[in-house]
Amino acid sequence: PYVFTRSLEQFTRAQRVIPAGIPGHLGPTEGLHLPYDGFPKFAARAEGTRFWDVDGNEFIDWMCAYGPNVLGYGDPDVAAAAAEQAKREDVTSLPSTVMIDFAELLVDQVASADWAIFAKNGGDTTTLAIMTARAATLRKKVVFIKGFYHGVAPWTQKLDYPGVLEEDVANNLYVPWNDLDALRALLGAHRGQIAALIATPYMHGNFVDNALPADGYWQAVRKLCDEHGIVLIIDDVRAGFRLDLAGSDHFFGFEADLICFCKALANGYNVSALMGRDSLREAVSSITYTGSYWMSAVPFAAGIATQQKLRELDAPALFDRLGTRLVDGLVAAGADAGFDLVASGAPALFYLRVADPADSLMLHQEWVAECVRRGVYLTSHHNHFLNAAVTDADIDRTVEVAAEAFAVLRQRHPEAA
Ligand code: PMP
Repeated sequence: PYVFTRSLEQFTRAQRVIPAGIPGHLGPTEGLHLPYDGFPKFAARAEGTRFWDVDGNEFIDWMCAYGPNVLGYGDPDVAAAAAEQAKREDVTSLPSTVMIDFAELLVDQVASADWAIFAKNGGDTTTLAIMTARAATLRKKVVFIKGFYHGVAPWTQKLDYPGVLEEDVANNLYVPWNDLDALRALLGAHRGQIAALIATPYMHGNFVDNALPADGYWQAVRKLCDEHGIVLIIDDVRAGFRLDLAGSDHFFGFEADLICFCKALANGYNVSALMGRDSLREAVSSITYTGSYWMSAVPFAAGIATQQKLRELDAPALFDRLGTRLVDGLVAAGADAGFDLVASGAPALFYLRVADPADSLMLHQEWVAECVRRGVYLTSHHNHFLNAAVTDADIDRTVEVAAEAFAVLRQRHPEAA
């Protein structure tokens, strides 16, 4: 099994000058990397389906940089388009017309949207979406689905989180996923006061099995939003373009008013997009909201190349086929060793949990750590991601490693379910 000596040395070095060493979602605390020294901390190189850490260990990467790697790291077509644009200009005093090219492509591709506004992070677009809904409706309240994640802006956080004020979350209302009765009751109780409902296209929350929408759920939510004059915001930052290139609302058979994209837009080049309907064009235009790098041209060129290639590959169908094959293989490997590996969510963004009768995360974390030590990069609390460079050989190797990891677990825990 791999060792992570250099990673740990670099982590110690980082902690001297960077609070928490690696702050945020790639950090060992946030990512709950247990056992702590059983995971690499820094990558040195990436290509296709793989990355190599600073100790020289090679990994088949099922996290895909938490989403941006959608075609394979360093995809040559995207790299060529980006390099071509970089020769001309990137960050300049005026935007490039490549911004319009990218917006035209996306408006043509995404079924529910008539316009696009570009930013950098997913959280930029969810915040702009909320502001747009409030500007359009002149209402304050927003409905969230329990277990949500829409970024890190104060309005997305919880009252007991450090640095968050009561005022930041005073207008947030919460309902359980897939519960129309609860939603109807909430909308009735706050009639005329709700600006928006924000939700991911299905429940791909952390630390829980992911859950697809119940039959008719989205159609009923759409109808309720129309009846109450509520702006329906779909946060497609994570699932976007992995289920359907026309948007995940299209995949589930409804139309959002506003839809947020980020991760799979440009294969790792830095751009996000809020897209929406004509009825919200004026409201979004009225808002004061921008950033130093939001109109950089290289990511737009990379985004065009990425979306064209995703179309050529019919990537969502590819992800579904590869993801299904992988998940079936992993579940069977678990069963062979007597473990109940629960797979949930869409195959393109599969979520895994080793069902543990003790109902702790430990057994699952141990299995993930044993996979990582053998060159298969999984995570323990978050959905995974498919990319278009994945081969059947990658899947076979992953299942083989998973089986080895289950065998280790079985030896260590002869009594476990
Ligand atoms: N919404 C969802 C569903 C996400 O998964 C994320 C990122 N993990 C965000 C919003 C925030 O995006 P970012 O971190 O790029 O601001």
